[in-house]
Amino acid sequence: MSIFTKIINREIPSDIIYEQENIIVIKDINPQAKTHLLIIPKKKIETINDLDNNDKELIADMFFVAKKVTKMLWISEWYKLWFNVWKKWWQEVMHIHMHLLSNL
Ligand code: 5GP
Repeated sequence: MSIFTKIINREIPSDIIYEQENIIVIKDINPQAKTHLLIIPKKKIETINDLDNNDKELIADMFFVAKKVTKMLWISEWYKLWFNVWKKWWQEVMHIHMHLLSNL
């Protein structure tokens, strides 16, 4: 079970910013910017390379959640989104997630 699955299941605490049926948004525990959020699908998919056609809507939803959350937090004028994909190197948590960063 990934650490993010435990967060989704409320087995470990986190700062939850937003939640909907298929996605949760939390504050990163080790922020790299004033605002550093993680947009996490509730379905566990290890890396971008493990996506299949059934995941298209979920991935689109992640971007729409980014749009919604940045508007909610008044940071929609300046933010960046990134995905890390490199097993056992860049990607620390094997459960896909989109980083959302802003200095606003
Ligand atoms: P990755 O390198 O996998 O793209 O990034 C994983 C991110 O998850 C890192 O920025 C790290 O700080 C964050 N992270 C790891 N464990 C936890 C945790 O238990 N809680 C929260 N909120 N963030 C975590």
